[in-house]
Amino acid sequence: MDKICYIYRIKLFFLSKSNKKSALSEIHGVEQPETYSRVVANQIQQFRRKQPSVKELIDGILKGDKTALSRAITLVESTNSEHLSKANEVVKGCLPHANNSVRIGITGVPGVGKSTFIEAFGKYLTSIGKKVAVLAVDPSSSISHGSILGDKTRMEELVKDDNAFIRPSASGDTLGGVARKTREAIILCEAFGFDTIIIETVGVGQSETAVHSMVDFFLLLKISGAGDELQGIKRGIMEMADTIVINKADGDNIAKAKLAKTEFSRALHLFPVKSNGWVPKVTTCSAYEQTGIDAIWEIISEYFEWVKANHYFEEKRQNQNQFWMMETINEQLKSHFYNHPNVIQLLEENKKAVQNNELSPFAAAMSLLEQYFKNE
Ligand code: GDP
Repeated sequence: MDKICYIYRIKLFFLSKSNKKSALSEIHGVEQPETYSRVVANQIQQFRRKQPSVKELIDGILKGDKTALSRAITLVESTNSEHLSKANEVVKGCLPHANNSVRIGITGVPGVGKSTFIEAFGKYLTSIGKKVAVLAVDPSSSISHGSILGDKTRMEELVKDDNAFIRPSASGDTLGGVARKTREAIILCEAFGFDTIIIETVGVGQSETAVHSMVDFFLLLKISGAGDELQGIKRGIMEMADTIVINKADGDNIAKAKLAKTEFSRALHLFPVKSNGWVPKVTTCSAYEQTGIDAIWEIISEYFEWVKANHYFEEKRQNQNQFWMMETINEQLKSHFYNHPNVIQLLEENKKAVQNNELSPFAAAMSLLEQYFKNE
């Protein structure tokens, strides 16, 4: 004990000699409480730390920082107007670095094996040096208040892959809202450096059409049934598909899957030739056993070679951009119109008047539009 005290005294002696202004040479007073302004300053500082600036986010994304990417996507998904204007700035800053990817849409009914497939496909892609981002369009969350795609633990292996990024769908939103957010998230992911963007959707409402309008390649995942594969399948989806993949071609199911492949190939031949000249393919795979996955990538690569050679690739992207611009204008105008106080009131009155044959639908619509423009 004495020895320790002795060493401590020697230390104090040297400290006081070497640094006269050391805290040790000062007389301690009573500790002062933090002033209000210091508390507020700390809070502001903490808030700022939590909310990186637009520049920090853009720099982070371009540097390949996944936290910055996630934060930027959260801003894009926010309904807060301040966040949205910040999100717009981030997207604008990322836009010149975007576009260098292939965008693949994947759809199929629940249970067909989408997440198992995307896990196997994504792992295959990263194994050949690709960087893969998986985004989802799932407006079912706003209808059923529970997400079909997001509720289960999905793609556990791919999540851990450094060259992959998985983001579940923005929940509690309209299809238009989810579509906008997904399109902006695509831009951010591309600026980050992901070269393969997978957009997953479950066929609820119009979500397949929305996803088709934001991807270059559309893959329909199916399973073989009891020879009635084509029943209950929406014609529109068959028409949108660039490739149909029959999943779960394993075990006792292999023969049935082959049969389904023949049936789908025959059915696809009945559709008119696509404007880009591509003839949709049908193939089988087992996402579970990870067989047939490389053949799917070969088909997709062949497709991209084809559409890049005939310039359909850029043309389609340009058309999609214009389509989404018009969609956004239409949506904003519609929502502004229907939320106008005078319109809200008159709309119900006019609906009744039309129902009772007191007003023609045209006259009713015109009077509503007049009210709207008068008060603008
Ligand atoms: P999702 O709802 O479309 O995302 O489908 P999941 O990926 O969750 O798969 C639904 C079920 O099908 C799960 O029990 C999977 O294990 C199973 N499954 C998925 N792919 C295959 C496959 O290739 N072969 C077999 N036998 N089962 C599979």
